[in-house]
Amino acid sequence: MRKIISALLFACVLRAERFEAVEPHMGTLVRITIYSKDASPMRAAFDRIAQLDEKLSDYKLDSELNRLCRTANKPVKVSEDFFRVLEASVKLSRLTSGAFDVTVGPVTHLWRLGKTPDAETMARVGWRNLVLDKRHRTAELKLAGMQLDLGAIAKGYAADEALKTLRGLGVSRALVAVSGDIVAGNGPPGARGWRVGLEPAGGEILLRNAAVSTSGDAEQFREIGGIRYSHIIDPKTGLGLTSAIAVTVVARRGLDADPIATAVSVMGELRGRAVFQRRVRKLIVVAPR
Ligand code: AMP
Ligand code: MG
Repeated sequence: MRKIISALLFACVLRAERFEAVEPHMGTLVRITIYSKDASPMRAAFDRIAQLDEKLSDYKLDSELNRLCRTANKPVKVSEDFFRVLEASVKLSRLTSGAFDVTVGPVTHLWRLGKTPDAETMARVGWRNLVLDKRHRTAELKLAGMQLDLGAIAKGYAADEALKTLRGLGVSRALVAVSGDIVAGNGPPGARGWRVGLEPAGGEILLRNAAVSTSGDAEQFREIGGIRYSHIIDPKTGLGLTSAIAVTVVARRGLDADPIATAVSVMGELRGRAVFQRRVRKLIVVAPR
C-alpha cells in the first residue's frame, strides 16, 4: 500500500509543471508562479486580486473604499475583505502610536500632485476618526472629507488572498508577488522554499508559507522645493520621509509584512525594532543612500 501511495505521489510531482504569468493590477505588476498540472488556477488568483482592487482602491472612484469616504458620521456596512484590512490597519495605528495611519489619504493625494498639506488638510487625518464595529461589521468616518489610503497594506492582503485561492484549487506550490509584497506557499518540487532576492538589503532568503515585503524604495519620491520626499508620509508632520531607509519584513502573512515594513520606515530602526522585533520573523533595515 505504502509503495502504491509513494508511486502515486511521485507521479503527481512529475505531472506538476511550472507556470508563471504577469498581469497589471493595483497600479503595479503582479507575478504568479505555480507548480500545477495546468495553468488554469492562476486565472482565479488574478481575478481575486482584481476583485480586491475594486473594493480597496483609492484611485477607483466607485471602489467600496471611496464610497465609504463620501459618508460621514454614519456607520456603513462593509465587506469582510474591507473590514479585515481596516481592522488590521487600526490595530497597527494603535501599536505604532499613529506612525501607521490609513487615514493619511488627504495628504497622499496632495503628495501625488507634488504638494505639501496645510492645517485644514491635516485636520482631516487621524486614525481615531475611523471607528469600526466588529459585531455589525461597520466602518464609520467621524469627519467629512476624510480619505482612506490602503496603499501600504492592500497589496500584502491581496497576495495572501491570491495564495489562498490557489490553495483552494489544490495548488500549494505557489509564489505571488504584488510588486514588492511577496507571499509564498510550499516551495517548488524538491525545494525547501522559494529563493527570493532582497533589494536593497542584498542576499536572498528561502521563503515558504510566509510573506516578505520591502518598503521605502527610493524610486517613489516627489521633489518639492528642492527636497526629495518619499511616498511614505509621517502622519505627525504630513510630510514624506526625507531620510533614506529601506525596511524588509518577513512575517507569516502579507497582511502583516506589508504594513509593518511601511510602519518601521516611518518609526525608524530603533522604535521599529522595539515594537516589532518579536512580532515578525525577520526585520532588516538599511539606509541605501
Ligand atoms: P508601501 O509601499 O507598502 O510602503 O506603502 C506606501 C503607500 O502607503 C504610500 O504610497 C501611501 O499610499 C500609503 N502611506 C503613506 N504613508 C503612510 C502611513 N504613514 N501609514 C499608512 N499608509 C501610508
Ligand atoms: Mg507596505
